[in-house]
Amino acid sequence: MKKICSLAFLFVVFISTRVDSWGFYGHSRINRIAVFTLPPQMLSFYKDNIEFLTTHAVDPDKRRYAIKEEAPRHYIDLDRYGKYPYADVPHHWNDAVAHFGEDTLNAHGIVPWYVNTMFYRLVDAFKEKNKFKILHLSADIGHYIADAHVPLHCTRNYNGQLTGQTGIHAFWESRLPELYGENYDYFVGKAELIDNTSDFIWKVVLTSASEVDSVLSIEKKLSQEFPTDKKYSYEQRGDITVRVYSEEYSKEYSNRLQGMVERKMRAAILAVGSFWYTAWVTAGKPDLSTLKDVQLSADDLKELDQLDENWKAGKIIGREEE
Ligand SMILES: [Zn+2]
Repeated sequence: MKKICSLAFLFVVFISTRVDSWGFYGHSRINRIAVFTLPPQMLSFYKDNIEFLTTHAVDPDKRRYAIKEEAPRHYIDLDRYGKYPYADVPHHWNDAVAHFGEDTLNAHGIVPWYVNTMFYRLVDAFKEKNKFKILHLSADIGHYIADAHVPLHCTRNYNGQLTGQTGIHAFWESRLPELYGENYDYFVGKAELIDNTSDFIWKVVLTSASEVDSVLSIEKKLSQEFPTDKKYSYEQRGDITVRVYSEEYSKEYSNRLQGMVERKMRAAILAVGSFWYTAWVTAGKPDLSTLKDVQLSADDLKELDQLDENWKAGKIIGREEE
């Protein structure tokens, strides 16, 4: 029995490193639904390419198997910088580098700064009217914005490893949405013009950081109250048996979180749509209907296939649970 358990645990670990972040379900959902927040001048272009935006919603996680610079782009351990609201951390990258040095910033994660960098790349892509860049940067920025909405992406205790709650990362952001996401209300309204993208994304990570305590303490209390032998169950995935948090345990955690995962997913969807929209407006509202018949080149697609190959073959570079 012991052997089976440890084997099962290995597979759990394996699977959780492969799905990462919101998991394929959450990320693809967020990018996909964000399309419907867009104004008419953007909507038909994004709708025509909705499969691309959905499929490539997890490219940034796959890139973590290819380059070492990728990992810190998905998180920020804000609690490395003192106490909420972390007033010492400059919101502008150059000021932050001057203050802490690039190595420290990279070691603790750079998601809010990176979202802003990606935003200006997307603005340029719109200005150039480069279809591939617009699509692939839209998919990518959607991923990073979604990550910034996850509380456990904003703390050094990112997988509950410091509080005896290892596994909570994928539990909150993959298992719960996979179980209950079909019933969430995804009507989030229309994309809004963002005044200041840097301020916006900093507000997002600060909010996420302020929710870390709830995410962890609610699960901690539940695990103390819940029968230990009912906490996990085993599921068959193809030929593999995996250990997962049981449905009863997941349901109870989800109830006690009082809609937090749904709320964060909704906020992420609206934020993604709003970033895309703001980039397009900042670029001077280029006419996207002229891109309709432009085909993506073989070279462009090769670059993305390569990501896939590294991911399938690879070992993650950097921190696993993000
Ligand atoms: Zn990620």
